[in-house]
Amino acid sequence: MSNPEVKRAFDLAASLLLHHSYQLMTHYLLSYLAERDGIKNVASYEVFGDLTRAENVMIRRFPLSLQENFKDENSELLIEMLKKSYGGISQTQKQGSNWILLEVDKVHPRRAILIEGEISDDDMDFIGGMYRVYANQVALLDSKERDVLTGLPNRQTLMATLDDVLIFHKENPPGEDNKRSWLAVLDIDHFKKINDQFGHLFGDEVLIHFATLMEKNFRYSDFLFRFGGEEFVVILNNSDDEGIAYALEKFRKAVEAFEFPSGQLTVSIGFTEIISTIPPALLLESADKALYQSKEQGRNRVTSSVRVEATTEIKSGEVDLF
Ligand code: GH3
Ligand code: MG
Ligand code: MG
Repeated sequence: MSNPEVKRAFDLAASLLLHHSYQLMTHYLLSYLAERDGIKNVASYEVFGDLTRAENVMIRRFPLSLQENFKDENSELLIEMLKKSYGGISQTQKQGSNWILLEVDKVHPRRAILIEGEISDDDMDFIGGMYRVYANQVALLDSKERDVLTGLPNRQTLMATLDDVLIFHKENPPGEDNKRSWLAVLDIDHFKKINDQFGHLFGDEVLIHFATLMEKNFRYSDFLFRFGGEEFVVILNNSDDEGIAYALEKFRKAVEAFEFPSGQLTVSIGFTEIISTIPPALLLESADKALYQSKEQGRNRVTSSVRVEATTEIKSGEVDLF
């Protein structure tokens, strides 16, 4: 490598290491790649599900797409390439273009960057080095951004994601194609009793089951977090008034019906609409107030913050399932 190339490689590595969140680092890398000669398109994805069963694979595009069952025009190609890739870099010719896949498979969900464009051999060497720095950093940041017990993104990640969702809605006001997003706070009822009765380790196991139940019940386009203790948060995207009530009520019932190691338990939920002009802290406060109402009214119910202001909460039985 000549000196300018060495400098370029070190500069990029230093810039990647400078970013302290997965989102910001990936954003930086995408804009860096998009500006390089020969590169036509570049996008990054989170990939959920079992690649051996294509119908079960869900992808979430980054920057945010917020759509349920999002499929962009390259999703089939992406899944096809991922099936053959075991982490690392792969390349293929399709649709009259050259495609390069960078896969980070040591994290859950796995991450992928898909590049379309003609790239010289020298540049491929460069991308190979860059990939190694990026993949290590993704794994490192992932462990910082996720809760160790449940594997869900943690509170710090919630705040960053909420900022992103607010920016998304400022730039894409709700309309025909783009429905609203909602913030829900979920708190397990009488969780202390479980710890007291069965011990902390048992309590931990219940939290893991609860997180798994969340992953099964909500959509891939919704964002799940462990807020702390036995409190969880969901950002539900692309839902209207009826959709949100249905989704949360469905989850409440799923918890009620589930056999936890400690037996049955219930969850109280409060939610509010994410309005792009309202600061994140106030949105959380609003959902939290609705949660408090759920607790006050006897637990095991879903309350909307709008109804709290009107002082009539939605009782669990009053939300129509359709
Ligand atoms: P409520 O219905 O009012 O929500 O009652 P609660 O008992 O669920 O609420 P409270 O906030 O009084 O207690 C929460 C308990 O959660 C207390 C704490 O010991 C327990 N807890 C918090 N984090 C963890 C954890 O990581 N593991 C376990 N096992 N318990 C935890
Ligand atoms: Mg609590
Ligand atoms: Mg609780």
